[in-house]
Amino acid sequence: MAFEGLDFYNVDAHLSDEERMVRDLVRGWVDDNVIPVIEEHCRKGTFPRHLVPQIGEMGLLGMNLEGYGCAGMSNVAYGLACQEMERGDSGLRSFVSVQGSLCMFPIWKYGSEEQKQKYLPKMAKGELIGCFGLTEPDFGSNPGGMITKAVEDGDSYVLNGAKMWITNGTIADLAIVWAKLVPPGGTLAEGVIRGFVVEKDDKGFSAPEMHGKHSLKASVTSELVLQDVRIPKDRLLPNVRGLGGPFGCLNNARYGIAWGALGAAMACFDSARQYSLSRIQFGKPIASFQLVQNKLAWMLREITKGQLLALHVGRMKDNGTVIPEQISLAKMNNVDIALQIARAARDIHGANGVLDEYPVMRHAANLESVYTYEGTHDIHNLILGRWITGIPAFE
Ligand SMILES: Cc1cc2nc3c(=O)[nH]c(=O)nc-3n(C[C@H](O)[C@H](O)[C@H](O)COP(=O)(O)OP(=O)(O)OC[C@H]3O[C@@H](n4cnc5c(N)ncnc54)[C@H](O)[C@@H]3O)c2cc1C
Repeated sequence: MAFEGLDFYNVDAHLSDEERMVRDLVRGWVDDNVIPVIEEHCRKGTFPRHLVPQIGEMGLLGMNLEGYGCAGMSNVAYGLACQEMERGDSGLRSFVSVQGSLCMFPIWKYGSEEQKQKYLPKMAKGELIGCFGLTEPDFGSNPGGMITKAVEDGDSYVLNGAKMWITNGTIADLAIVWAKLVPPGGTLAEGVIRGFVVEKDDKGFSAPEMHGKHSLKASVTSELVLQDVRIPKDRLLPNVRGLGGPFGCLNNARYGIAWGALGAAMACFDSARQYSLSRIQFGKPIASFQLVQNKLAWMLREITKGQLLALHVGRMKDNGTVIPEQISLAKMNNVDIALQIARAARDIHGANGVLDEYPVMRHAANLESVYTYEGTHDIHNLILGRWITGIPAFE
């Protein structure tokens, strides 16, 4: 049965025709192409790569960027696409976020004209896949401590280090690698964080897949290993220095996650509502029990608040007034409520809730990663704490 959406406060009326069209296009596409195959991919731990060209054809890759083959749509349209993708699976939304917000965006924003021409049109079509290498084995919430290093040598930079937990890594044609560019003869402490484009065939570069995840099983997660990787100087992103570079990208991706998490929550709510109406206990549908209705009413309440939050942040992003802390609040809140909704939906399904016949356990497991990546829940709390008090508690 086609998904009808959940729109208690008629948010729809505040969308443009184009935004509604994108939402409906992706919604129908997810019903037809993602829902039928996603559980099988999760079971096998494989990414549905065959869907990438279709995602490109729909114009969803880098869709809120202008020029270079990108669709140039509003941030609200991008958010709605993320919502529908994540209703299918967080792994697919992660693919779209990483490709568009974490890989195409830094090239678009910080890259040279040649870099933009070379990579962006093919990435928009899904012909080239990108990944974003910031996290290291010993530096997750504290990326400023990174030890991946770049050194200038004649016409090249030579990169050494390791990244971990990198979405799309193994299937990527290019990686945006954040590393400290150390002055000749200097120490790591003197290095400045810069962004480099590493291509998959660069000698000394490899991206082995990480296995054993109980979460985001339909997404590729990888290590990036850099051993004396020599790249030409024109692969440095020329227009950014310092942590502001990766944080600028994360801001965009976190914004998409604020919408995406609502998609997962809506799928769980929908499944719980339908199940509660059909499951008979004590001679009546469990939907007739007040405790079950209380859970469903709470889900509706939180999803509705999350939708208003996402739309408002989206409009602020579109008119250029949003600040990173406002995006932090939206990411943190919407992922938090989505995870709680997925757990409550699993509860309403009883034992059936742990089966992959229903989407709830998959969404709950996925959302555990979403809660941690792109800034953990508590790191966003600390970002807000700094905004409230002026005191950074995490430095
Ligand atoms: C499936 C998946 C995909 C990912 N994809 C990517 C990707 O594509 N690219 C990329 O670069 N990274 C990626 N990541 C990595 C992700 O961004 C990191 O996992 C995240 O930043 C947290 O880092 P960590 O795992 O090292 O946890 P840690 O930083 O070690 O944190 C562990 C715990 O300590 C808490 N904590 C840490 N510091 C503080 C503090 N100062 N005060 C209070 N609490 C604190 C955290 O909130 C958390 O609860 C991915 C992760 C996952 C799970």
